[in-house]
Amino acid sequence: MKWMKLLLVSMKNNCHEMRSDEERSSDTDNIDSYSENNSCDGNDEECSSDPDNIDSNSGNNSCDGSEGCSSDTDNIDSNSGNNSCDGNDEGCSSDTDNIDSNSGNNSCEEMGSPEECSSDDNTEMDNMNDPKKRLRYLLRNWDAENPCPRKAGNDLLKILQDYKKDEKLPKDWQTIKVLPKKLKNFLNHESKEKCGGWYQYLGIKKNLSLMHELISSCIENTILLAFNTDGVQLTESSTNEFWPIYGKIQSGKPFLIALWYGHSKPNDFNEFFQDFVEEAICLEDNGICIRKKQYKFEIHFFSADTPAKAYSLMVKAPAGYWSCTKCRVKGQRIIRIIKKAKVGNRNKKGKLKNKLIKKGQKNKKLKDKVIRSNIHFISLNEESRSTSDYYNVANDCHDDDDDDDDRSDDFHKQFTILSNLRTLDLVKDVVVDEMHASNGTLKRFLNALLDGFVVLNKRIRKVINPKNKNSLSSLLVNLAFENYYPMEFARKPRSLKYLPFWKATEQRQFLLYTGVVLLKPYIPAMHYECFVMLCVSMRFLNSYDKYSDEMVTYAEALIEQFIQRAIELYGPTFVTHIVHILYHLPKDAARFGRIQKFSCYDFEDANFQLIRNVKSGNLPGKQAVERYLRKRFLCGVRQSKKIISKKTICVRDFYFQAGRPGDQFCAVSNNFIKIESIKKYGDEIKIFGRKFQQISPLFETPCNSKDFGIYKVEKLSSSLVSFSPEDITGKFYPIPIGEKTDKYGLIKQLHH
Ligand SMILES: [Zn+2]
Repeated sequence: MKWMKLLLVSMKNNCHEMRSDEERSSDTDNIDSYSENNSCDGNDEECSSDPDNIDSNSGNNSCDGSEGCSSDTDNIDSNSGNNSCDGNDEGCSSDTDNIDSNSGNNSCEEMGSPEECSSDDNTEMDNMNDPKKRLRYLLRNWDAENPCPRKAGNDLLKILQDYKKDEKLPKDWQTIKVLPKKLKNFLNHESKEKCGGWYQYLGIKKNLSLMHELISSCIENTILLAFNTDGVQLTESSTNEFWPIYGKIQSGKPFLIALWYGHSKPNDFNEFFQDFVEEAICLEDNGICIRKKQYKFEIHFFSADTPAKAYSLMVKAPAGYWSCTKCRVKGQRIIRIIKKAKVGNRNKKGKLKNKLIKKGQKNKKLKDKVIRSNIHFISLNEESRSTSDYYNVANDCHDDDDDDDDRSDDFHKQFTILSNLRTLDLVKDVVVDEMHASNGTLKRFLNALLDGFVVLNKRIRKVINPKNKNSLSSLLVNLAFENYYPMEFARKPRSLKYLPFWKATEQRQFLLYTGVVLLKPYIPAMHYECFVMLCVSMRFLNSYDKYSDEMVTYAEALIEQFIQRAIELYGPTFVTHIVHILYHLPKDAARFGRIQKFSCYDFEDANFQLIRNVKSGNLPGKQAVERYLRKRFLCGVRQSKKIISKKTICVRDFYFQAGRPGDQFCAVSNNFIKIESIKKYGDEIKIFGRKFQQISPLFETPCNSKDFGIYKVEKLSSSLVSFSPEDITGKFYPIPIGEKTDKYGLIKQLHH
């Protein structure tokens, strides 16, 4: 491990940058929204009554759910043009016309021109300040955040009208729900049939023109747009899917550019991306003017999970021989023959057995055996792919399911329309999706430990036996039960029994925090070191703002060692596409910063919100779009729903609370302290706690855990120390070790 030590020494000099506040806020957004997801669970029942009420109310004008309601809304809107919307409408009408005409001729410079935007905003402000209209606007924004059933809304309006007779309020709640003009502009492109489903294009410019605060902080007046797409299944009982195209700039939340709804997936991804690509090309050429300021426009990166990426780029699916989008590695097919009886023991219902039998297999000798075959990627350090290959693909495309592995490079299937984007490098800017790659790898690793694995057709026994699995699970449950997890994490640790259902954030919590302490006593050193290599490489790539060439080489070496060790222990079949692409993460980090910045967590959360917007089965796409517009642009800044007690303080976006184990551990210079009390003396806050007297690394092989913010601490001092919040240099996730009450594994918190 000499190279590691050498690299670590040089790295220590280079990389002590801490996370910037800006990035922290993006993380917080993510967690806030997750915490909101949890806290909203209880409201679901309330929400579900919404469509029912609307249905029952609107039954006489045949509007079941969204379509009916929105047509209803449109009617109300046209009728209510005389009331308090007047000013607003007028302010926006010129904007609408311009946007509409622009959508045809792509004259980007006129889009969202500053005068129009500001007049629109000013009118909105005027209405908010007008005491006769203010209540109506407050109700509209409240409804956007907490959709109110029509009947309940009508009753509320009656009460308010009796109580405040001088307020100008409508009689029907649907009038409150009317989209303001600035949002109706989004729907200028009418929904249509496209790629075998329903499709609505909202646009890039229309979204950006309403995000002037975020855009005004763009560096060098350049808007860098990241975009993403993925299939989102609406319900488990159907194959109906949403395929959204999201955009994202800087640390902002994702915004919806287009939405497709249909069975399965769009039947032509070039057509699916056509409107987006046309508008993006126009913006690349002409830039965009927002509030009298001209901005350049570039594509920052494209992220998607591996199947969505393959569809979008028109390349081989992840199970193909030449499926890596970053390098020219050729996969190998490894066929494993397993005795059916052994597999059968693992599944009493026999479902798995049937799935594993290869189609058309008639050999009687193999009747009692099952065959598994997958593509695996053993080789690393292969030649990088070239963007020019995408442009020369027209004469070089192959059939979809051609499995001829003798071809030199059977990667491109068809020309992709995304290659028309001038500022998108189809190799370097199509990032590895860290969320699916690292979590997918963790799941493969845990499954190998818990279920056993096969090397050279020989089944290897489970590394963690059922008894130890139960012990590990109870440790995880105890962490949740005794609040040994930071309040910033919305999800509590769960038992390994629920491993197939662990959400992405739960998997990340195990990979980066809890796993490294909990697994140690339960698995042999070789397996533990393998896990450590995965854990520290992902922690390393989540820790810094910039990555030098040396740091990239180091991270690649760590991941390479992890892959080599995994092959040694679990056989070559371990390294599927999802494990292989981990090796390309460091180069993406060198280009875009810490992996959290370009992972799919935010987009995944946006997908969850999109599904929640659908309340009935009638035109789900239209419902999702309209509710998205309301929530995104009428709700204002969402407040965190965390309840912060008097004993809690916030230091650089990390929360500390005396008495809650998960939020009591911090570092002050080189000491680790357990906070016992937080006291306020006027404006001054003083924190009191006890120091740990023994600090050591949790592990020293294959590297020193201290270099990755992982420590073992014990022996609390008997005397109290006091310090100020400004003295705190980091927050730590505590995991008790053994029976002792003052011995912990402390892991530096990287996420909010
Ligand atoms: Zn590769």
